[in-house]
Amino acid sequence: MQCPICDSNMVKKKAPYSYYDIDLGEFDADICKGCGEVFFTEEASDLIDKVAKEMGLWGLEHDSKISYSGNSLMVRIPKDIVEFMQLKKGEKIKIHPEGKTRLVVDVEPA
Ligand SMILES: [Zn+2]
Repeated sequence: MQCPICDSNMVKKKAPYSYYDIDLGEFDADICKGCGEVFFTEEASDLIDKVAKEMGLWGLEHDSKISYSGNSLMVRIPKDIVEFMQLKKGEKIKIHPEGKTRLVVDVEPA
């Protein structure tokens, strides 16, 4: 099998998969010897979906809007993300931009 990106040969190997920075484990994949791109097999993709669903990681992506509060802007966090991350009012977080289109919120471990 050859890499669809660079045409190099690929090797079958287990590769780690993470979703929203959560490590889901290692799954069967074809890894390109040239560019290093990882292609998970179809069975592995199904398994990844299953594991993600079991861990309650599915469907946590939402559209949200920025609103105002005094001089600050506020981003609403949907309830299922609040529950998934076990966020509480008054909890300390750190926020930082990753470039101009991504904002990262880190919850400080209790
Ligand atoms: Zn490649």
